[in-house]
Amino acid sequence: MSMTTEQSKTVIEVRKVRQSFPRPSGGELTVLEDVNMTLREGEIVGLLGRSGSGKSTLLRIMAGLVEPTGGSALFQGQPIHGPAAGIAMVFQTFALFPWLTVLQNVSLGLDALKIPEAEARKRALEAIDLIGMDGFESAYPKEISGGMRQRVGFARALVVHPDLLLMDEPFSALDVLTAETLRTDLLDLWSEGRMPIKSILLVTHNIEEAVLMCDRILVFSSNPGRVVAEIPVDIPRPRNRLDTKFRRLVDHIYERMTMPASAGGPQAGVPDLSGDSITKVLPRVSTNSIAGLIEAIAGAPYNGRADLPVLADDMHMSADVLFSVAETLQLLRFADIEGGDIRLTEAGRRFANEDVNVRKQMFAERLLSHVPLAAHIKRVLDERPEHRAPYSRFAEELEDAMSEEQAEETLRSAINWGRFAEVFAYDENRAMLSLDNPS
Ligand code: ADP
Ligand code: MG
Repeated sequence: MSMTTEQSKTVIEVRKVRQSFPRPSGGELTVLEDVNMTLREGEIVGLLGRSGSGKSTLLRIMAGLVEPTGGSALFQGQPIHGPAAGIAMVFQTFALFPWLTVLQNVSLGLDALKIPEAEARKRALEAIDLIGMDGFESAYPKEISGGMRQRVGFARALVVHPDLLLMDEPFSALDVLTAETLRTDLLDLWSEGRMPIKSILLVTHNIEEAVLMCDRILVFSSNPGRVVAEIPVDIPRPRNRLDTKFRRLVDHIYERMTMPASAGGPQAGVPDLSGDSITKVLPRVSTNSIAGLIEAIAGAPYNGRADLPVLADDMHMSADVLFSVAETLQLLRFADIEGGDIRLTEAGRRFANEDVNVRKQMFAERLLSHVPLAAHIKRVLDERPEHRAPYSRFAEELEDAMSEEQAEETLRSAINWGRFAEVFAYDENRAMLSLDNPS
């Protein structure tokens, strides 16, 4: 017997893919670096990474919408150049045409395939039926709910009977219950073999969703995006979120995602604290959420130490948002993250018990010692005779090292934190930074 009979066929293969974009200020921004992955027939694979890590860029390359800067993607053994007939994509929200009915919107998916009208109608009706929209064929998008509109989007992708379905955060714009119903329906169809597709790639930033739906999970890092871990999900279907095995795997993935690069981890969560450059990307986190998280961990039932997944549930936060706040606490040395737990440091405990004036002082000290960009802004303002500098002075500097978007977020965070700490002031109208209390 040959080896190949025991392995499912490869559907798509990504080899050494690299993607960079030119920066407005010159030079380039590397979004994807040495990305490798293989999807086989019969599997649902999750691509789990934080926002801005390059997941959508990778999907666009796999769908043939973008040519990568380097490396290649092979669909059923053939290099992808341009959209492939066997690949369909599902987006976070669909642009349905408001003047077309559900049936007409779904049939649109077949336009490019030049299928005879009667056959096209039959396939569209089947797809609508499959996805649970039977009876809504003649409804217009404005007459149906957001969850139903997303179902129409799925039907539009399935109607072409693609071999590969790429899903880009397809549940993240829906409310909790609608999202869970749609997930369960899709999983049922998949398990019953009723989906006219061979394999699915699910992009998500939701750990539980990945564990619920996927056969294996690829953990994606940020800056640049790269696959840093592969985690098989050996839990029988249908899966129950409350099962011990399920909870344990969610915990394990939280742990992997919060492991810093300096510990040999995937760095998908916490920034590399060994870096001390002013061009380190800062997460968009408000001082209110910083104080809120410190207070929550300090209080009962945690008393200074909390399990991240439990905390996320408790605070109704997505993993993505919680990571951002948690990594800020770590950056400011208000907390340590280890093994999927977050633990307040001595300073964190003290902060929780102080009034707002002491909090501001503590914050200022930490900002100037642990956030090089904040210290840099302060130094520039100190040195200028008027103690003022325009926003653009710093934005341009950051744009040499990161995307325009990241530069804006990073500078915004530094400014908001600095304002709270009364280290510097910012005049929104004139886009001008100044020292709060010039001495
Ligand atoms: P994700 O889907 O993981 O949130 P994206 O793939 O959308 O991430 O974006 C990753 C990074 O690439 C972002 O910093 C984004 O600003 C940048 N980016 C994406 N497309 C372009 C483009 N066409 N030109 C310049 N930068 C881009
Ligand atoms: Mg995206």
